[in-house]
Amino acid sequence: MRTEGDSWDIVSSVGATALGVAVLRAGETRRADALFHDPYAGLLVMAVGSPVWTRLSAGAGDLEVSAMRSYGSLGDLLVARTCYFDSYFEAAAGAGIRQIVILAAGLDARAHRLDWPAGTTVFELDLPKVLQFKSSAFAEQGVTAAVERREVPVDLRGDWPAALRDNGFDQHKPTAWLAEGLLRYLPVDAQDRLFEHIVTLSAPGSRVAVNMTTAERAPGLRRTDAARQQVLAALDIEVDVDRLWYPTEGRSDPVQWFTAHGWTATRADPARVLIDRGRDVPDDVAADMRTHLLMTATRPGGDSTP
Ligand code: SAM
Repeated sequence: MRTEGDSWDIVSSVGATALGVAVLRAGETRRADALFHDPYAGLLVMAVGSPVWTRLSAGAGDLEVSAMRSYGSLGDLLVARTCYFDSYFEAAAGAGIRQIVILAAGLDARAHRLDWPAGTTVFELDLPKVLQFKSSAFAEQGVTAAVERREVPVDLRGDWPAALRDNGFDQHKPTAWLAEGLLRYLPVDAQDRLFEHIVTLSAPGSRVAVNMTTAERAPGLRRTDAARQQVLAALDIEVDVDRLWYPTEGRSDPVQWFTAHGWTATRADPARVLIDRGRDVPDDVAADMRTHLLMTATRPGGDSTP
């Protein structure tokens, strides 16, 4: 359950969801027909030093494999959104954007794994303990980013723009923003505040990408509750996004919100993202996935407008 101003590290509460999605990215990376490769996902999960998380990220053990299956279409959604946002950043870089802000970066390793043009700066925002875990894990492994990467420890429910500026963010340059796996962890008023900050800090030609499940419950979990609870109890581990999410009631629709603020918004069908890349998606999984919004929006003007 969430409380105002609650906090976490990488293995607790909302922090553990960053571990959960990294486990899923490690799983996709191991596939022969992987749609993306994130070699850092497994490395970061293993740095936790917990045998259960290590087995999960290695896909080892029957119980661990059942645990991952019990998340149902959430795994497919994660793959779809990773591909979609990778392509979003590729297009933004191609359009000349050199300032990137990853909100709620968690264990996102795009600063390390994407091919950024020279002169790009990637800002990563998350709670202090989450960013500390990530930077020590990378330091212990001797991993450095090929791009200028700046960590900005903040609570995104609060007033974070000052900290971003203090770390060298320039609001006169076009920016590509990403809020991946974040919005439902914010109370509804904090989501609107976050959007307002993005708009205020965005020069013409800036872009934003977000995802959000619009159903009350996470799509993959509806049919798998009993199996998931059993297997997670056996592993003594729990990452139950439903209990950590704030409700949809009163929440702004990101497409409508950015359109009303003069941005040009485009939404994508998550199932289509996978199908277009050659992956089979059963009809029931596709229907599940369609309760999930993937959106990009562009602020008109500036040199980087396509
Ligand atoms: N974007 C990353 C990804 O897709 O791999 C991480 C997603 S994970 C599901 C949610 C992330 O949101 C966690 O890293 C968590 O710490 C971060 N987060 C949630 N609420 C936050 C807040 N109020 N301030 C800062 N970070 C927050």
